Order: sequence, then C-alpha cells, then structure tokens
Amino acid sequence: MSEKILAREGIMDLVLYIPGESGDENMVKLSSNENALGCSPMAQEAMAKAISGVNEYPDPTSLEIRKELAKLHDLDASQITISNGCDHILSMVAQAFLNEGEEVVFASPTFAAYATNTLILGGKMVKVPLKEHTHDLDAMAEAITEKTKLVYICNPNNPTGTIVTQQQVDAFMEKVPENCIVVFDEAYFEFSEDENCGSGMKHLREGRNALVTKTFSKLYGLAGERIGYAMGPANLMNILQRVALPFPVGRVAQAGALAALEDQEFVEATLKSNAQARAFFYEAFDNMGIQYCPAHGNFIFADLRYPAPEVFERLKKKGYIVRPGHGWGYDTWQRITFGTKEQNEGLMEAIKAVLEEF
Ligand SMILES: *Cc1c(COP(=O)(O)O)cnc(C)c1O
Repeated sequence: MSEKILAREGIMDLVLYIPGESGDENMVKLSSNENALGCSPMAQEAMAKAISGVNEYPDPTSLEIRKELAKLHDLDASQITISNGCDHILSMVAQAFLNEGEEVVFASPTFAAYATNTLILGGKMVKVPLKEHTHDLDAMAEAITEKTKLVYICNPNNPTGTIVTQQQVDAFMEKVPENCIVVFDEAYFEFSEDENCGSGMKHLREGRNALVTKTFSKLYGLAGERIGYAMGPANLMNILQRVALPFPVGRVAQAGALAALEDQEFVEATLKSNAQARAFFYEAFDNMGIQYCPAHGNFIFADLRYPAPEVFERLKKKGYIVRPGHGWGYDTWQRITFGTKEQNEGLMEAIKAVLEEF
C-alpha cells in the first residue's frame, strides 16, 4: 500500500527536517549552534550521578528546575512548562492552540519548526519576508487577520542573527488582537549584547497572550540532553500542559539542567567566548570586504559571495562544517556557529583559501 494512502492527509507533503551536518570526529562542526565550550563541569558531574537512578521515572513536570527558572525570570513556577527540548515545546504550542485552517504568521526565513508544526496541524502558513535580514514587524502586523491564531517571532532570528528592539516589539503588540497568541522564541536572547534586544517577557507578565520559549541547548550547552521550556500567563500554561507528554524530560537531563542553572561561571565563560568570537569574525570579514548580518546569537550569517553548496563542500574538504544558506533563499550565504578561538581562526584560514580558489 502506498505511503500516500497510509499516511494521514497532508503528512507526505511534509519535507524531512535536515539538521546541520555532523561529519566525523576529525571535522570541526560549526553547523548547529552548539556551545563551543561544551557544557558546565558541574552539570556533567550531576548527570553522571543521575545515571544510577534511571530505573525510576523522572519528575513529570521538572518542578525543581521550574522553581529555579521562576527565580531567574521573576515568575511563578506555574507559569513555566518544561519539555523535551524547545523543539517539543514548539510542537506542543501548535497542538494546544492551533485549529485546522487557522493562520500562523511568521518571518521568512526563520526557524523551520514554525512551518513544520503548522503543516502537521493543518494550519495555514503566512510567511512574511525579512526586511534587511530582520523581522518586518509592520508587515507582520498587517498580515494578521481574524483567522490568525499564532504569530512567531524568533529574536534573535535564526538563521540571520538579527534582532528587533523592545520598542518595535511593544509597538507590534499594540496592533495584535487579544485572541491571537504571540510566541517569542528567545533561544539566543542571552547572547545578544544589545540591551535593547526585544523580548516578550514584559508582555506575558502583563497577562497578554504571549509565550516566551527558551532552551538549555545553546547557552548551557546541553543540546544532546534535550530540554527546553515555555513561559506564559497561567491561563496559557493551563492549556499547554494538556498536551504534555507524561514524562517528557529524563532524569539525566533534569539533573544537568538544574546544575547548569547554578553554574554562573560557565554561563559567563560562554558569553565571553561568544563575544570574542563575534569580534574576531567582524574584524576578519570587514578586512575581507565580506557582508554579514549583526550577529546577536552564537553564530554569524555571512555572504561568502560564491554558490553556497559549493563553498560548503569546499570548506568541508578542509575539515569545517558550516550551514549553507541556499535552503533559506540566501544562495551565497553561510551560517557559521561560533567555535573556540582555535576553531574560528582555522575556519577563517579555510574560508580565505576557498575564496581564492574561485
Ligand atoms: C536551537 C533552536 C531551538 C531548539 O532548541 P532545542 O531545545 O534544542 O529543541 C528552538 N528555536 C531556535 C530558534 C533554535 O535555534
């Protein structure tokens, strides 16, 4: 029997998610925005200890972590939902709120999960092109109709790394109707050094229909353990929790996340290393006359001027895996995750050599 008949209607139209390539151990992987410094040694220790307890189910709602996050974000623990990666949180958001045929507004290009989850639930995508590589909030506000249920704002944006400011977010929220839920994906928020970087936190505190999602994958370096969370007003959390998995986050992940929240030193080291990498790429690209977007995340999006798949392959031959931009409609751009000093310098040598080959 053909897959088309077996699958639920529309499912076979979905394209498989293609993550950044990982290569082998000898390759330097700068394609998935992972933490260049690894993860907190305190988290490692806590995770190693947690292994002996894995015969027992974990805490279903990660209460200890929610309490710590509540302190960190000045919320109540009931305003936080934790799941198996921010990716699963985004899937839950669509499951909990989106009816078939309702519209979902998001930028193009942005993080792929918003489109995928909309398609799975039978929602209608309304893609609003970036303007100067940045969310065009005026156009997004205009794209909202009475059928719009969800709006996603990825700030800083993946893949471009650009931000919208708090003033822009506030002005946008003025125009959003009450019955429409705005999801702020702030996976990279802490990496931005711009104190004006826009956030949805203020709006969810005010009880607006706003959610903010975050992840332990990037800042805390726990991408391999899968843990992320959503914050929102109690009424939205009450709805979101209905679609929760019974035990979404394993014991090891919970132990790692809890310890990671206590290791401020590791967070500071990550942000410092990130700032140094950013400065390094800015200077190197400026010297080479290469155009790039302001890099507010832990990666930089740059126009390396030659066809992205070809540049990607040639860099790979030299041992570096980056993320080619053609899938996002940026035919000569690459998204480069910030690595360690040594990795960044090595990559820059490889980029220079590759560009000279053309
Ligand atoms: C990495 C990323 C996520 C997913 O985070 P996980 O917790 O690893 O699932 C979500 N949103 C954006 C914008 C990301 O870049």
